[in-house]
Amino acid sequence: MRQYDILQKFIFESADIRGEFVHLHHCIKALVERHPYPQPVLNLLSQALSAVALLSGTIKFEGALILQTETNGAINVLVAQSNEKQHIRGLAKWDEARLEEGCLLGEGRLAITIIPDNAKDKRYQGIVEISDDNFTLAFETYFMQSEQLATKLWLASDGHRAAGLLLQKMPSDNSDWAYWEHVSTLAATISDQELLNLDNTEILHRLFHEEDIRLFDESPAVFKCRCTKEKMEKAILTCGEAEIETLLIINPVIDVTCEFCNQQYSFDKVDVARIFATS
Ligand SMILES: [Zn+2]
Repeated sequence: MRQYDILQKFIFESADIRGEFVHLHHCIKALVERHPYPQPVLNLLSQALSAVALLSGTIKFEGALILQTETNGAINVLVAQSNEKQHIRGLAKWDEARLEEGCLLGEGRLAITIIPDNAKDKRYQGIVEISDDNFTLAFETYFMQSEQLATKLWLASDGHRAAGLLLQKMPSDNSDWAYWEHVSTLAATISDQELLNLDNTEILHRLFHEEDIRLFDESPAVFKCRCTKEKMEKAILTCGEAEIETLLIINPVIDVTCEFCNQQYSFDKVDVARIFATS
């Protein structure tokens, strides 16, 4: 059983078509340790994390790439984030009763937002339709709409691990569409089990043994939250002094918990006074 977390890129030597693999194991473990999820929710969230890791490898940016759904199914919150270093985090919330009906996302919208670390750089947001039946298709549509890039995506998860494969036809690609269709059709023969279990070299051999492919070095993906004490202090500030003082009458300490990683940040009277004094 493979037990590592990586992003690995490759290119077809004879055409400007690039590819990427993602494999997540410890990241999924970290996710489950922080919040227990019902299996179907965990599967979708794991796939969403794989998708943001893959996306973050194709786009040049420094900051946060955020996937968020707004749908009418049992999962009312699904958020997955990655930065340019594949530091990923995610969370989901769901309605237990509706989950039993078997409708996960239902129908709605998928938003991909890029928030650069440098506040001077522009935010970008792309929105596409999504439903339970077209989870991966939504990402392919996103690439076509926002970057005019033909993209194919395969995602798999088993509750312990997640994996993904992405193919993308670059704008500079002069090979004909028939070649793109050819390699896409070959890639589509990958099974979830193969994607989860085989080494990337084995997968490439299994799918494209007649093609000339260059596989690049792997880079790590890690579950890492972006929360900080400073960000939580900002949240306290946003609540307003009057509200916080009322809270402090009832509790000696105010605990703010990060929804993503469950890290708890505590603030007492002295902290609160300092936060509002320095604002
Ligand atoms: Zn956190």
